[in-house]
Amino acid sequence: MGTIIWREEWKRPYESIWSVIENIKISNSISGSDLIHYLNDNKTDKTRSVRNVNKLSEEALDKLKELTNIDFLAIKNTMLKLSKLERNNPLHYFHTHLCYCEKCIHHNYHSYLHQYKLIDVCPFHVTKLQTKCKDCKKDIYHYNIAQAIPFTCKCGYQLYQTIDEPTWRNLSTFEPVLNISIKHDNYTLSENLQECYQ
Ligand SMILES: [Zn+2]
Ligand SMILES: [Zn+2]
Repeated sequence: MGTIIWREEWKRPYESIWSVIENIKISNSISGSDLIHYLNDNKTDKTRSVRNVNKLSEEALDKLKELTNIDFLAIKNTMLKLSKLERNNPLHYFHTHLCYCEKCIHHNYHSYLHQYKLIDVCPFHVTKLQTKCKDCKKDIYHYNIAQAIPFTCKCGYQLYQTIDEPTWRNLSTFEPVLNISIKHDNYTLSENLQECYQ
């Protein structure tokens, strides 16, 4: 992979690593396997090749940062801060199947906050989140970077028809603004986010 088309302003606040990666694939017409190949090319031990977007090594996150100038490690650290209540398994606070907002996904946008178990509405649109594929009615496991068509369920159902859309148009028309605040014991989500999201 030579150069990559990516503008820093395309990364939106609270955006999930998955969402950014899907948009990188769309704006560059590259496949998930190409991206994985690139992220793993320095590894001699191919069995360590990682495909799960939430389990990328710091090295892989650094490579993504080199490509895009986006601080992927910071996104991951924000997620970890949100789950500081659970020390042993921080990702326990996030759903493993996809939870998404239909309005957000129309802007090629998905947030890690949609995955956060303490919220069941979109924190930007305050509408109920979708938790199943509308076609096969199953959970959508979305973490495999190798998924051929971005924003798509395993069954082939596209959450949004992105293929013929100019990505930059979608990316630039939506700025997520937090519309909820969650109090959980001594812990307030909106304050916590303002503190860790720069
Ligand atoms: Zn939304
Ligand atoms: Zn499906």
